[in-house]
Amino acid sequence: MRPQNRQFAVIGLGRFGRAVCETLRKQGYQVVGTDIDEGLVAQALSDRIVDNAIELDSTKPNALREAGIFETDTVIVAIGKYVEESIITTLNCKEAGVNFVAAKASTEIHGKLLKKVGADLVVFPEYDAGCELAHRLTRPSILERFDLDPEHSIVELKVPEAFHGKTLAELEIRNRYGLNIVAVGNAEKFKINPNPQERLYKDLAMVVIGSNRDIQRLPM
Ligand code: ATP
Repeated sequence: MRPQNRQFAVIGLGRFGRAVCETLRKQGYQVVGTDIDEGLVAQALSDRIVDNAIELDSTKPNALREAGIFETDTVIVAIGKYVEESIITTLNCKEAGVNFVAAKASTEIHGKLLKKVGADLVVFPEYDAGCELAHRLTRPSILERFDLDPEHSIVELKVPEAFHGKTLAELEIRNRYGLNIVAVGNAEKFKINPNPQERLYKDLAMVVIGSNRDIQRLPM
């Protein structure tokens, strides 16, 4: 689907909701923002982080229907503090047949309730940001991280000093670390599935797949 044709609705224009709107809009998607607070609606419009913004109470199914929220492909429920409102809003959207509802949870029990009423994706922003920060601080050479599950990741990191000038065969990454190097290169070009004779240099980056524990064992 072309970005322009895919529609998103963000319910709740606090810091989290605004960040979602801004990022989607920058990527060329159509975004409607809603909030019960008139001032936040006006602010989102004047900051141009949404295509349209509507003041409504999302616990009222009719208000959501009239605003066309149920016709969007994806709804993001960005209400954290008001647990009851967040759950009712999610339930309203799923009952009305919205294809995909992502919701923000503030606690574990909030997350469980959101799943029970049908949320397709539940995120815990404070928890995720804390994990991300800890990873960043302990592994400064990691450039990008994609979490596959809580224990496994794909990471892009700078080739460690200790690997400089050595081939993959010499380094025995798989035997010594239990990791697979799936690509080596730089911003211009990456070699995918490098062969064992590929030599690593410290100005290059490498993409590694494996368990977080094994990734932590790599030298800096
Ligand atoms: P932040 O995103 O800034 O961290 P938060 O997690 O504390 O905020 P809340 O303050 O719980 O989030 O809610 C986010 C927004 O959702 C607020 O701007 C609030 O006005 C809005 N909101 C709360 N209840 C409703 C409702 N029933 N209908 C529409 N919007 C609502």
